[in-house]
Amino acid sequence: MVTPVTLSQYSPYRHLTVTLPFEIFHFYSRPHSGCIPNRSHSGWRRHLSGILDNLSPDSKTDHKRYWRIATRYALFIGLYLITILIIMPPIAKKYGRVPLPFIETNHVRPLSIWTALLNRNYVRPELRAITYTAGDEMNRKYPGTVINYMDANFPFRDGFPLLPHISHNDGRKLDVAFHYIDKATGKHSNGNPSPIGYGGSEPPRKGEPDRPSLCISNWQYSYMYGWMPLSDKLAFDQSRTQDMINVFIKQKGIKTIYLEPHLKKRLHLTSKKIRLHACYSVRHDDHVHVQL
Ligand SMILES: [Zn+2]
Repeated sequence: MVTPVTLSQYSPYRHLTVTLPFEIFHFYSRPHSGCIPNRSHSGWRRHLSGILDNLSPDSKTDHKRYWRIATRYALFIGLYLITILIIMPPIAKKYGRVPLPFIETNHVRPLSIWTALLNRNYVRPELRAITYTAGDEMNRKYPGTVINYMDANFPFRDGFPLLPHISHNDGRKLDVAFHYIDKATGKHSNGNPSPIGYGGSEPPRKGEPDRPSLCISNWQYSYMYGWMPLSDKLAFDQSRTQDMINVFIKQKGIKTIYLEPHLKKRLHLTSKKIRLHACYSVRHDDHVHVQL
């Protein structure tokens, strides 16, 4: 007795009919002379031969289809990489912008490679030089330390904001990650509790200015805070972060720095370059914003 069982239309094996109990599989998606159901137990060899006949063309077709899809993906990725690595930089140069590096250069690297892959890593040449200087200086003082950059600007067109950052629209702005310590070893880490740097806030402590509470009615101020999956293996490195901000402060080209008032107080920073940002901005206790 042969009982065909048709699989769900959503199953990847829907082209198979399972036949029980003695028949194994019967391929019926395409009518084929070799797959006429054999209802005799003694004809199982002929039936198996029909299965193999059917298996062959289907496998070849699937094989070709997968290769075609894989080739299209590879072509897209290749063209995309050529565009962002070879075509985009000379165009951006005409708009006075250069890319920050994809891989560690002068002790500067992207915290997330997606920042660079999505062209969110363009700045004015002066800002790149300052960032490299800061990277070198930090590495001299703390060997092995790198500066992790976050969002910068798009490659061209002034006035086109790098959302959600409204002001990152002219190549003059850059977000830089804080430094952290590995809790388990007590050593300096180049990691970040947040996968993208944003959202890993160091909130105000008792007695410190509490601007996040004052700006609570502006939803965008703390919208990255509280939901980002964060590593609990890292602790805020106050002294290295303080030193890094001081390195940026002493660069003549840097005119403005945004940092939450409670961290300005905690890190004993007094420079007038550190300014108060508006409540329609995002909070700056998970990164520091530097601009020309
Ligand atoms: Zn910023």
